[in-house]
Amino acid sequence: MYNTDEVFEGYLTPHYRVPYPVDVTELVEEHEGDIGGCIPVSFSDYTKPAAVIFVNGCPYNCPHCHNKEVVESKAGLGEPFLKTFQRITHRCACAEHAGLEVSPFIQHVVISGGEPTAYTKLPELIRLYKYMGMGVKVDTMGFNVDVMLDHLDIVDAFYIDVKGPWEMYPELVGIPSLSVEKVKQSFSRIFDAATHHPEKFVFRTTMVPELSESDIEQVKQNIPVTHSLKLQKFRSVTSG
Ligand code: SF4
Repeated sequence: MYNTDEVFEGYLTPHYRVPYPVDVTELVEEHEGDIGGCIPVSFSDYTKPAAVIFVNGCPYNCPHCHNKEVVESKAGLGEPFLKTFQRITHRCACAEHAGLEVSPFIQHVVISGGEPTAYTKLPELIRLYKYMGMGVKVDTMGFNVDVMLDHLDIVDAFYIDVKGPWEMYPELVGIPSLSVEKVKQSFSRIFDAATHHPEKFVFRTTMVPELSESDIEQVKQNIPVTHSLKLQKFRSVTSG
């Protein structure tokens, strides 16, 4: 069990640090069952080296989902949450005390999924990493706009998947009954925030086989003029 104050006090504060009044180790243990796994160091999930946390569950059912195990809450990706958390804390302060591995250059964490904004404990998770003085990026498809906007001041970046033109959403996310109007309303709020805080938002679209060039052009028209659309190559989950 760590003494939270001893671990963190006086160490890294490269980013805005928020107060965290609870026992951090207890909190990590609380999240453990909701996290499908972690990558301790990734060079491809952010513009900086980062640890990646995969939150279980997603309300969508995209036919080309690349993380079905996480969506279906089957744990086993990478290494356990607590292990990655220990690596990070040890970089912060107490490697020589505990004798665990050190990852000296990780100063950022990517919270991915699944769909992190559908995770009810996401606010605690964000605050936990900010308390540790880390940069936090959230990968999302814009599901829970309230939680995104509530944390706009402390999240460093939201990378948002825009699945395609609005009318194609029910097909692209595998929910035939999905309200296109609600999707539009959610993105209207996100786009408004992005216009005022362009540095905090990246919009990206994966070029799944259902999307034509004109569909991509439509998405480009939909996002705010302050942003350009990042296109991601489609990789079939069955082709490995
Ligand atoms: S939104 Fe993302 S995580 Fe959820 S089903 Fe679609 S691709 Fe998978």
